[in-house]
Amino acid sequence: MELTDTVWEIIKSNSNVCDGKVWYGVKSTKIFCKPSCPSRIPNKSNVLLFTNLDDPVKCGFRPCKPCQPINELVSDEIWVAEINYILESYYDQDLTLSELALLVHGSPSHLRHVYQSKTGLSPSKKLMQIRMDKATKLLQSTKRPISDIANDVGIPNNSYFIKIFKNIYGITPHQYRAKHPN
Ligand SMILES: [Zn+2]
Repeated sequence: MELTDTVWEIIKSNSNVCDGKVWYGVKSTKIFCKPSCPSRIPNKSNVLLFTNLDDPVKCGFRPCKPCQPINELVSDEIWVAEINYILESYYDQDLTLSELALLVHGSPSHLRHVYQSKTGLSPSKKLMQIRMDKATKLLQSTKRPISDIANDVGIPNNSYFIKIFKNIYGITPHQYRAKHPN
């Protein structure tokens, strides 16, 4: 269904007049909501409209935790999958806990608590793991300067990047590259 101005106004105003008839998915986060969901208003260009509740799930969208678009409690496991999707998609950006919480429709403290209890890691630790994992792949597969790679994985501060890298792998990025020629 096309996103008409009327439906867009309903989504923006969190009105419940269309609840149960249409659902909207946000392409950038792969989360879908009821029109009345009070979460942050997405970019209009990222919005996909569904008129059948089976469709968002078929298209790979996951239900929003606060608004429960399938009228079932969203499990912590599904929420953790949503959080992981966002971490994997936006690791290269300045992703703070509060920004992450906005993207996955929760409060920062609740997010940290649920994530930690389900995975044993804090979201920021998981984000750092993803960044370092991407960095090792770039070190092996490219000849790009370390500072470029640091920037590419979301850590613009090169010396901070080197410090964290060394903490995790016990060697510097230069040494890592020398040990793992492609
Ligand atoms: Zn929602």
